[in-house]
Amino acid sequence: MFDKILIANRGEIALRIQRACRELGIKTVAVYSQADRDLKHVLLADESVCIGPAQATNSYLSMAALISAAEVTQADAIHPGYGFLSENADFAESVERSGFVFIGPRAETIRLMGGKTAAKAEMIAAGVPCVPGSKGELPDDDEACLQLADEVGYPVLIKAVSGGGGRGMHVVHTPQELIESIHVARYEAQSAFGDGAVFLEKYLEAPRHIEFQVLADEQGNAIHLGERDCSMQRRNQKVVEEAPAPGITQEQRDRIGALCIAACERLGYRGAGTMEFLYEDGNFYFIEMNTRIQVEHPVTEMITGVDLIKKQIEVAAGRTLTLRQEDIEFRGHAIECRINAEDPRSFVPSPGAITTYHAPGGPGVRMDSHIYSGYRVPPYYDSMIGKLVCHGESREIAIARTQSALSELVIEGIKTNIPLHRQILSDAGFVEARHNIHYLQHLIERWAE
Ligand code: ADP
Repeated sequence: MFDKILIANRGEIALRIQRACRELGIKTVAVYSQADRDLKHVLLADESVCIGPAQATNSYLSMAALISAAEVTQADAIHPGYGFLSENADFAESVERSGFVFIGPRAETIRLMGGKTAAKAEMIAAGVPCVPGSKGELPDDDEACLQLADEVGYPVLIKAVSGGGGRGMHVVHTPQELIESIHVARYEAQSAFGDGAVFLEKYLEAPRHIEFQVLADEQGNAIHLGERDCSMQRRNQKVVEEAPAPGITQEQRDRIGALCIAACERLGYRGAGTMEFLYEDGNFYFIEMNTRIQVEHPVTEMITGVDLIKKQIEVAAGRTLTLRQEDIEFRGHAIECRINAEDPRSFVPSPGAITTYHAPGGPGVRMDSHIYSGYRVPPYYDSMIGKLVCHGESREIAIARTQSALSELVIEGIKTNIPLHRQILSDAGFVEARHNIHYLQHLIERWAE
C-alpha cells in the first residue's frame, strides 16, 4: 500500500480523499493556491505545499507545480479528485513518467474516452446502446451534414467532440438552421476546448439522466455499483442526484450494468468510472464516460456501503478487487443536494466570509464539506461548498430526511442555494419522480413569475 498520497485538488473532495487516506493509514500531502491557505484539509494535512497563485491555471492546473510538489514531499501517488486535471491524459502520463502512481485509469484510456465520438464507438463495439447520430465527427461538407441530420431526424444536437461541463451544445430544429449552427459550434468548440471537431446526435426531448458507477482492477475484474439519477439539472449542471434511479427495475439494472462491465473489460479499464446515459421511454442511450470519481459518488456509497475513494486507492496500488458483483447489495435510497455559494434566484456566485455554520446531523445524514465558521469562500473557483447526502430505507424517508436536514443546515454571511433545494425537495414533480433534465429550468421560470 502507498505510504503517502498527494491530493491534487481543493475543497470538499480534497477533504474526502484525505479522510479515506487517514482510514487506510496513508499520509497525505495537501497542495494549495495562495487563496486557499485556510482550506480545512490543508490545516489537517501531514504536509502541505503552496503550488502557486490563486488563478487555477498557475496552481491547480499546473502540472509542473504539482509534480514538483510530489517530488519534494516524496509522495508515492497522486489523487486528482474531480475537475481540474482529473481527466487530463497528459497529466496522468507525466505523473507516471515522473515515477508516481496516478490514481485513475491509464492515460490511454483517459485519452480514448475523452473524445466523445471515440468513446461512443468503443461502447457500440461493446454492445452498449448509444444516442443515434453521426459516426464520428461531422465532415466539412454541407450536403453530407444535411443528409446525416435528415437520416437521424430533427431535432438534432451538435456537440463538441472534446466538450465538457455541459457547454457548447446546439439544438437544431430545421435544416435551414443546420449549417450555420455547425459553424458556430465549431468556432465555440475551438475556442473553449482547443478542438473544433463537432458531431451530431438525435436530440432527445425529455430524457432523464441516469448513470452507472463502475469499478475495475488491473487484473481484469470489473463490477458495477448500480445507477444514479441526476436529472435535476440547471444548464446541464447537476443540482440534485439520487440512487437508485426511481422506477428502474432490477432487470434493467442487471442488463445495463452487465453491458457497462463488458465495456470495462474491452477497455482494460482500471479504477472508478461512470457511464452516463440518457433514459427515455424505457430505453437507455449512452452519452459519455467520466474516467474519474464524480461529485455525486456519495449516493452510491450510501446505498452500497462501499467506500469508492478507498477502492480507487486500493486498485491503484495494484490490489485485486475482492468485491464481486454478487456482494453488491442495494439498501434504501440516498439523495444528494449540491450546496453552492450563489444567489438562489439569480445564480450569481456569492463568495465571502462564512460567519456562522451549523451542519445538520442525525441518522443517515452526511455532510461532505470543507467549510467552517470564519472560512472565507474565495471567488476564484467553482461555487460548490458542500454536499448534503441523506439516506433512508425508502425514497420517501430519504426525502423527509433531506427536508429535515436542510432546515437544520445554517450557512450565514454568504448567499447559498439552500432555499432552492428546499423548494425542489417539496415539489410534487420531484416527490413523484416525474422530472426530466429540463424540469428544473421550468420550475425556476415558474418561481420567477
Ligand atoms: P458534457 O461532457 O459537456 O457534460 P454530456 O454529453 O455529458 O456533455 O451532456 C451533458 C448534458 O446535456 C446531459 O446530461 C443532458 O442533459 C444533455 N444532453 C446531452 N446529449 C443530449 C441529447 N442527445 N439529447 C438531449 N440532451 C442531451
